[in-house]
Amino acid sequence: CGIIGIVSLNESKKLAEMTVSALKRLEYRGYDSVGVASLSASGLEVRKAKGKVEEVVYQKKVEDMKGYVFLGHTRWATHGPPTDYNAHPHIDCSGNIAVVHNGTIKNYKELREELESLGHKFKSETDTEVIPHLIEEFMKRGMEPFQAFKSAIKSIDGSYAVLAIINGERRIFFAKRDNPLVIGLGEGQNYIASDIPAFLPYTRRVVIIKDGEIGFITPETVYIEDQEGNVVNVKERVRVIDW
Ligand code: GLU
Repeated sequence: CGIIGIVSLNESKKLAEMTVSALKRLEYRGYDSVGVASLSASGLEVRKAKGKVEEVVYQKKVEDMKGYVFLGHTRWATHGPPTDYNAHPHIDCSGNIAVVHNGTIKNYKELREELESLGHKFKSETDTEVIPHLIEEFMKRGMEPFQAFKSAIKSIDGSYAVLAIINGERRIFFAKRDNPLVIGLGEGQNYIASDIPAFLPYTRRVVIIKDGEIGFITPETVYIEDQEGNVVNVKERVRVIDW
């Protein structure tokens, strides 16, 4: 299973190709389904299916997707069988929030029941799908996007490397606990992935995210809070990969 996210100053088709090549470099981790989300001026788009990266990319014409933010995911099913519907990214009811996740959420059943009682309709059998609905619910109650993302992560109990994007926001929200996540710093473009090889052709400057950290990346900035809610000095955490 693997995750890639790219956020860029420029909207281009090239980002779709970069996302696909990153997914290929994550294939060694094992997976059963593949999906990509993009954000552009015309909104959020998701293309996903069960199958190999090459097959899904061809069937769904993933390389034609356009945008300034991209998420890519390879799924290793833990909750719900490998199907097109259970593939990530997962979206909320409005179709404005997309989430990819590696890991497992222990309390997803209770959360799903609660969200369903509030009127949320689910489209998959995954544990992951509670996350976009939680973000949607917290935003509906008036929270700003990052606050809503933080509240969603606080609600879940389990292991996760998780990325979320929201229509109209040129940033990728992230959180990590027990699953790997690393940021790559580019020029007018930043990356976040399960491991360094995913974005190594584009940058060697990285920030390794620690357990319990939460934040977001934009094309030119990185914001991280630690477990206690203190702002992390990102500059001190930058490392240059020499292999
Ligand atoms: N638990 C999630 C699912 O079954 C994520 C699995 C993964 O790590 O790829 O969809």
